Amino acid sequence: MPGSRVWYHAYSMAEYSIGVDLGGTNYRAASVDRNGNILERISGPTNSPAGREAIVNAIAGAILELRSRRAGEQLAGIGVALPGFIDIAKGYIHASPNVPPFQGFHARDALQDKLGAPVLLENDANAAALGEKWFGAGRDVDDLLLLTLGTGIGGGIICGGKVLHGFMGMAAELGHVTVDPTGNPCACGNIGCLEKHASATAVSGMARYLNLGENLTAEQVCGLAQAGSAPARRVFELMGWALGVGLANYVQIFNFPLYLLSGGVLPAWEFFAPAMLREVEQRSLTYRSTKTRIEKATLGSDAGLVGAACLPFHS
Ligand SMILES: [Zn+2]
Repeated sequence: MPGSRVWYHAYSMAEYSIGVDLGGTNYRAASVDRNGNILERISGPTNSPAGREAIVNAIAGAILELRSRRAGEQLAGIGVALPGFIDIAKGYIHASPNVPPFQGFHARDALQDKLGAPVLLENDANAAALGEKWFGAGRDVDDLLLLTLGTGIGGGIICGGKVLHGFMGMAAELGHVTVDPTGNPCACGNIGCLEKHASATAVSGMARYLNLGENLTAEQVCGLAQAGSAPARRVFELMGWALGVGLANYVQIFNFPLYLLSGGVLPAWEFFAPAMLREVEQRSLTYRSTKTRIEKATLGSDAGLVGAACLPFHS
């Protein structure tokens, strides 16, 4: 029967997808299988000063190269994660402070025209949250919140298995909630944002303030804490306090079963987690009366790449 032959052919062909994680400095691209396993990777500089067309060409070049290496296999689609506010339905980027040439850009259509394949866009922190939900620490839940502690603090919210976008793609700006109304001023215009008190940058700033050193990275402050430095441990207590205030608010609002932390500050978990959990316990009735979990994410820096790559499998 001709029909069953076609069916057999379509389902016997190996299927893969391609993801791109576009950052302010570098882009990373990878082909993945349906189970989120990375098959091959390509990376390169984003080179924003060269402009929009150059960035599109660089990404498209990486995607075409990954496609050429899987000739004869079925491409399910392409997912692109990038920092910024995105209108997912229109494939339009309202703003992208880390990739300025993409501001006010119909990136999805531009890439689809160039590649002749379906393209899906997603905010990078949301893509990381999806990656953790599909293949990482969040596999057993449908609702979770992810905080990425890096230079700033990014966030993604998965509700009922789907990303919470908000009406303009600006939901989950979790790093810019107030944890200290009289705290440090933030570039966003607010005072006392979570990311000014709990990001890797904030850890470096507090270390400087406590005379630990001028330009210490969060990793170096962690090393000092491990070596027994009391001021370094104090830095992480303060950071944990701020995280706890923020998390207590999220727990009260969402009543999700799982809140994940990721980013370069995770190795300092033993130094900031006690203060963080103490604060959440004290401030959140919901936390005290439920089995809410606050844990480490497990996919590391690949979460956004894998989440983006698997968007076509879930659309
Ligand atoms: Zn802010």
